[in-house]
Amino acid sequence: MSIKETDKKYVAGTYNRFPVEIVSGKGSVVVDNEGKEYIDLGSGIAVTSFGVADDEWQKAVTEQISKVQHMSNLYYTEPCAKLAEKLCNKTGMSKVFFSNSGAEANECAIKIARKYAAEKKGADYSTIITLVNSFHGRTLTTLAATGQEHYHELFQPLTPGFVHVNAGDIEEFKKVAIESKAAGILMECVQGEGGVIPLDGEYVKAVAAFCKENDIVLMFDEVQTGNGRSGYMYAYMAYGVEPDVVSTAKGLAGGLPLGATLLSDKVKDVLGFGDHGSTFGGNPVSCAAANSIIDRIDDTLLADVKAKSEYIFDTFTGLEGVESVSGMGLMIGIKTVKPAGEIVKECMANGVLCLTAKDKVRLLPALNIPMETLQKACEIIKKAIEA
Ligand SMILES: *Cc1c(COP(=O)(O)O)cnc(C)c1O
Repeated sequence: MSIKETDKKYVAGTYNRFPVEIVSGKGSVVVDNEGKEYIDLGSGIAVTSFGVADDEWQKAVTEQISKVQHMSNLYYTEPCAKLAEKLCNKTGMSKVFFSNSGAEANECAIKIARKYAAEKKGADYSTIITLVNSFHGRTLTTLAATGQEHYHELFQPLTPGFVHVNAGDIEEFKKVAIESKAAGILMECVQGEGGVIPLDGEYVKAVAAFCKENDIVLMFDEVQTGNGRSGYMYAYMAYGVEPDVVSTAKGLAGGLPLGATLLSDKVKDVLGFGDHGSTFGGNPVSCAAANSIIDRIDDTLLADVKAKSEYIFDTFTGLEGVESVSGMGLMIGIKTVKPAGEIVKECMANGVLCLTAKDKVRLLPALNIPMETLQKACEIIKKAIEA
């Protein structure tokens, strides 16, 4: 059997895979089993922050793997402690809880908001507000948080205590927050799976101010937008607000599983001994990988991300066959006249891997994609759009 046949027979059919088997790569170029090269503008869905088989990342991972691959959270390990310190220094947050995925990072955030509100205001203050069209993960609780009905239908009953409000409507948010006795609000600064849609700046500021006045836990899901992807270390920084909790994962460890929930001074001690845990969370190899990523997200890199973002916006905005371009940093959605799926297919045939989000072509290139490589890929996308 070919790999494709074996996979189809034995791997659960939850993914509609493209007919391509990737076997190797370097940076922003990946190679399939027939030796064909592709420019990768998906980065494993915003995961391989510095591309595939990046030298510094590989060195950090192999060095740690040759020392100790796992020790359980009953012992101290250096990569975990150092990473937590770095994340706090780069954000002004006070503590970090490590897990393995975005959904788990959000679960931790939700547990914190619930416990904080229960202790501060009473157990009836348990509602978590999220936005319509959001995406927060696939566990039953993060599905409940996800504001898209079609993900919910087959899996009732979901975790209770979630309500969804429309992004941009501050009066609705205030009303629901009071009436539902909200513990917290969780939102993506740029809705990723929802179609690469950035939130309005005034709205985010107004939500943050209301949360502060009413002691509602303000949480940002930076699973996709985080770790330099937006052109900022975290996307909330572009909005000039101070969150209580930030969850992240995807690009954090550049291709190994790692989730992190960053806690502000206000909530840093909400979870105490025995309140939460994770067997693999803070794994030394994942944390060593993450250290090699976080160390390189500096002002120079972020300026470069912004410049490449501008290049992509300039290339596609107003182009015939393009209805709109949205997003932030190297997280971009292009709404095309032709169905997005067709464009992705045509790009793949011509050596470029891109994604879709709702009805848009979605681009999530590596943060360090060379400009010439990006230009080459954009030419191929342009041809697919115009054809
Ligand atoms: C991908 C994603 C998640 C889920 O992350 P997993 O690692 O798949 O659990 C949650 N929130 C957002 C915004 C995401 O993009």
